[in-house]
Amino acid sequence: MRLIEIFCSMQGEGPAMGRPATFVRLAGCNLRCQGCDTDDKPRRELSIADVLESIQGRRVVITGGEPTLQMEGLSQLISLLHDQGTEIHIETNGTNPIPEDILEKIHCAVVSPKLGSHFHIDFWAGKKNVHLKFVLGKAPWCWTSELLEQLVPALEKERVWIMAYGTDRDMPGARVAWDLALHLGVNYSDRLHIRLKRR
Ligand code: SF4
Repeated sequence: MRLIEIFCSMQGEGPAMGRPATFVRLAGCNLRCQGCDTDDKPRRELSIADVLESIQGRRVVITGGEPTLQMEGLSQLISLLHDQGTEIHIETNGTNPIPEDILEKIHCAVVSPKLGSHFHIDFWAGKKNVHLKFVLGKAPWCWTSELLEQLVPALEKERVWIMAYGTDRDMPGARVAWDLALHLGVNYSDRLHIRLKRR
């Protein structure tokens, strides 16, 4: 599998915020979001067995880039992790639906649709283990309050999260995201790894 990194940390955003996990960051993405803070180039290539061996603890977050670009290896990895009882989380932009038999082995899939992309909202919204995380901000791929006010009422509120775009520790957009989440009756996500990053 083409990887950027494997590391242990706390999940900083979304429904598993504050929970420890091993992060497997796969390389490559099919989108080019302005201001993306993820390196696109693979730094290493590992066999599925080596990836499996590098995972510590009871929870794994498979992220990217866009992990579904390596669907074959990803599916094998998820099946092996599931068989050994690991709690599997995945983060995706939603442009590649995950086969149903693989998706059902995932504890929590966080889909963060990017404005202007084809993100298969009907597929994801119907799945009980899928949470939809919308990033509010001014970048062209971010959502506006107006668009979310139109979209969110048709979705199951318990599985919708609104998060501010930002890589600044002060998270200047957080209050607006908080207020909008409160107004729409959905969840607010902070970005704890950004707030707490070392200077
Ligand atoms: S989908 Fe995510 S990883 Fe891909 S370019 Fe956009 S922000 Fe970066």
